[in-house]
Amino acid sequence: MSITIKSGQETAVMRQAGKVVAAVLKKLQQEVKPGMRTRTLDDIAENELKKLGAESSFKGYRGFPASLCTSVNDEIVHGIPGDRVLREGDVLSLDFGAIYQGFQADAAVTVGVGRISAAARKLIEATRGSLEAGIARARPGNRLGDISSAVQNYAESRGYSVVREYTGHGIGRQMHEDPQIPNFGTPGTGPMLKKGMTLAIEPMLLTGDWHTRVGEDHWTVLTMDGGLSAHFEHTIAITDAEAEVLTEGIYA
Ligand code: MG
Repeated sequence: MSITIKSGQETAVMRQAGKVVAAVLKKLQQEVKPGMRTRTLDDIAENELKKLGAESSFKGYRGFPASLCTSVNDEIVHGIPGDRVLREGDVLSLDFGAIYQGFQADAAVTVGVGRISAAARKLIEATRGSLEAGIARARPGNRLGDISSAVQNYAESRGYSVVREYTGHGIGRQMHEDPQIPNFGTPGTGPMLKKGMTLAIEPMLLTGDWHTRVGEDHWTVLTMDGGLSAHFEHTIAITDAEAEVLTEGIYA
């Protein structure tokens, strides 16, 4: 495993990539409404990317056909935008990555479509909270397992499970760099965190059990038991103290 350390200059470019990702995710959340097809959101994302002079991280990645992932209800991640019509009460995860001047940023939010159930609202809040708990442990001198265990404890103490088969990741010139960042783990274990590491932390929380399956499109990851899921993600940089959130501003 080799974790790349970014210079200040490289981190500055990633900050610009992060601003692009945040601006697009914010715009998308403002547009979401019942009756809309998920493809429309992908069209909006592509348009915004063009305006901002950036490229999609996702489109063409191992053949992925869109610039955005839209995952609804029991779909956890990697949902392909298409003809699906969003309905009042749906739980929609939007995952988006951009390349700007050779560097990438990656982030995700989960939002309700129109009015959603109290149970769905609680899941969304817990997932966002677990991301913040993980980021709070992302400091130099801590270890990767400190982030993972903070996410897991936050989620499980609220009655949710965390996805085990998909993880966060290092990020930089490539969307997926070392290390993998599981959403479960043991404090004090794993690689030491150092200034200049750039990481995408992305808890996926489920109301049911943690097992997943891949849908017929060979991309969409769903809960095995049909339970609800939510997903939040930030790209961060390890600094001298608190982590810098490079995709700050993703919340509408
Ligand atoms: Mg990611």
